[in-house]
Amino acid sequence: MINNPISANIPLDQDGVHHGFLKLPYSRDDSAWGAIMIPIAVIKNGTGPTALLTGANHGDEYEGPIALQDLALTLKAQDVSGRVIIVPAFNYPAFRAGTRTSPIDKGNMNRTFPGRPDGTPTEKIADYFQRTLLPMADVAVDFHSGGRTLDFVPFAVAHILEDKVNQAACFAAMESFNAPYSVQLLEIDSVGMYDTAIEDMGKVLVSTELGGGGSSSAKSNAIAKKGLRNVLIHFGILQGEMQLDPTVRLDMPDDKCFTTCEADGLHEPVVDLGAMVEKGEVLARVWPVDRTGVAPTEYTAKRSGIVITRHFNGLIKSGDCVAVVGVIVT
Ligand SMILES: [Zn+2]
Repeated sequence: MINNPISANIPLDQDGVHHGFLKLPYSRDDSAWGAIMIPIAVIKNGTGPTALLTGANHGDEYEGPIALQDLALTLKAQDVSGRVIIVPAFNYPAFRAGTRTSPIDKGNMNRTFPGRPDGTPTEKIADYFQRTLLPMADVAVDFHSGGRTLDFVPFAVAHILEDKVNQAACFAAMESFNAPYSVQLLEIDSVGMYDTAIEDMGKVLVSTELGGGGSSSAKSNAIAKKGLRNVLIHFGILQGEMQLDPTVRLDMPDDKCFTTCEADGLHEPVVDLGAMVEKGEVLARVWPVDRTGVAPTEYTAKRSGIVITRHFNGLIKSGDCVAVVGVIVT
């Protein structure tokens, strides 16, 4: 197997607080012998579990980078039992461009696993996680939100897995994250996902969707910081009491949860995030952009439940996700 060209300029296995970079050589027009310098912090103390914490898997999602910058700055080695590996901007080129995918190769990090050591920059980063960082980890927290095109009610996610022992561990970790909503999800398009790479190794994953619109809020950032601390306490890496608030358990059992736009137009949300809807209720209208006197197309809920996702932008295209309805687990 070809070696991955990425190198860490800090030790990954020594006690203490280390801030540095994952250096990915990238020769290009504006930097002949240049490199992509991906920030990383490793905080380790003695023996114990390892948590691998990532933000900006998609470059325009911000709660993760903010919570992880805060943790990397404030966490002291003596407060840790085990190891915390923090990569605030997983797809760093995408994060710097403020885009979902990498501006270099259009790589979507969450569709690139297991990656390639001799591939594009996005594939090289994925391969480094697949073969170097993930094998060190017991638990991974991967922060997502809606990016520039979607908005979400704040939730943590755990997947329905064939491995029921690991599924139970993932559900317990999701509950410890304790977002306002907790979603169980059967992933319909799991090939290439970082999530799948983690779960296939039998490791615990907590993923999230905490907001969106290409920004963050005081509320969504507070949820990210609290959830992160809770998960680290749950795994015994940090000491202290978890802050536990009420959470609504939701299921997304099938594709009836998703409503997809079928023509380009002007997007009018009819219900807001968090609203309870009945099957058949109108979620959004899509108006023509090029004429008056034509009625809008109405998009309806195919299930009863809570609106957990909606299209964010004022304009919408055929194929865009209009809204997602989560079913309340009683
Ligand atoms: Zn994402």
